[in-house]
Amino acid sequence: MPQLWRKNLINITPYVAGEQPKNDNIIKLNANENPYPPSPEVQRVLSQKSADDLKVYPSMDAAALRKALADRYGLKPENVFCGNGSDDVLAVAFRAFFNSNKPVFYPDITYSFYPVWCRLLKIPYETKPVNERFEIDVTDYYGENGGVVIPNPNAPTSIGVGEQFITDLLEHNRDCIVIIDEAYVDFGRYSCVELVKKYDNLIVTQTFSKSRSLAGMRVGMAFANEELISYMQAVKDSYNSYPLDQIAIETAVASLGDEEYFKATVEKVKATRDEAKEKFRAMGFMVTDSETNFLFCTHPKHKAKDIFEYVRSQGIFIRYFDLPRIDNYLRITIGTPEQMAELYKAVEKVLTARGPRRTG
Ligand code: PMP
Repeated sequence: MPQLWRKNLINITPYVAGEQPKNDNIIKLNANENPYPPSPEVQRVLSQKSADDLKVYPSMDAAALRKALADRYGLKPENVFCGNGSDDVLAVAFRAFFNSNKPVFYPDITYSFYPVWCRLLKIPYETKPVNERFEIDVTDYYGENGGVVIPNPNAPTSIGVGEQFITDLLEHNRDCIVIIDEAYVDFGRYSCVELVKKYDNLIVTQTFSKSRSLAGMRVGMAFANEELISYMQAVKDSYNSYPLDQIAIETAVASLGDEEYFKATVEKVKATRDEAKEKFRAMGFMVTDSETNFLFCTHPKHKAKDIFEYVRSQGIFIRYFDLPRIDNYLRITIGTPEQMAELYKAVEKVLTARGPRRTG
């Protein structure tokens, strides 16, 4: 029997996330998670929960969290949207705002989920090549388009841009929606959240997964003017009324309440990052100036894939992308100083054991 339903199948290539280890002994530096636990306030909320709390639906719009985020960022709750991780928030924004037949612009080297959503949602897109130092040229985004999405700092390059770049971008894109994906912004130098008060076409997305150590809870948010947020709520309510569960809402609020812990954890990660950058440079790597919780690097004499495979065999997971322009680069999430020491040992071993890489 021919399986006629096959001709109606969706044709998609999904996003590939960092590998999840099958045992506990792995040092996991491949998904840009935070090596430190969330604030003790999160643990306090979890210890007070009972199964009985789960018999009713959570708030449809995560009201308590929107309020807490609005207070933290000097906005109104109507300027805040919450979703099941910033992936969910970004997917909602792509659906709500990228509906023209003009292409959406984003860098050629960037978060690899963007092409996945574009293909899934049938959004035309055009990538703009970053230069050989992986920098984004703002003038590439001046042309007519169906929207713009840029991560700041960018991933996996780890490079950030400042206020001048973002303002320039917004000034040249008054007629389309501009999304700035700030997943790593807490480790960087500049966030443009404030600009949502000035530009009614700007959406800024952030996450609790990185700087707040809550990747497992799946909490993300967008900041924008009230009208844009109301369209995002309408899209959300057209496929899932309750993307955030009760525990996610309460733990995220608790995390926001502990500013001191948040700052201290971010500072620890940044200190280890800056030290790691020097260590890798001393080992002969070229490392971009990271404004994130990961390093992006290449070695002139050794293949990235060989290093990746060797350290993996030693129980350390880092990220290797077999993609054009970056197939000789590694993305290394910053772990604790102890985890990084293990990584340095493994990398030093592979550099001395393997000799120079062959060309061709
Ligand atoms: N944007 C970028 C640039 C990312 O690297 C990630 C993490 N994979 C996300 C968004 C999504 O993170 P989350 O869904 O955990 O909030």
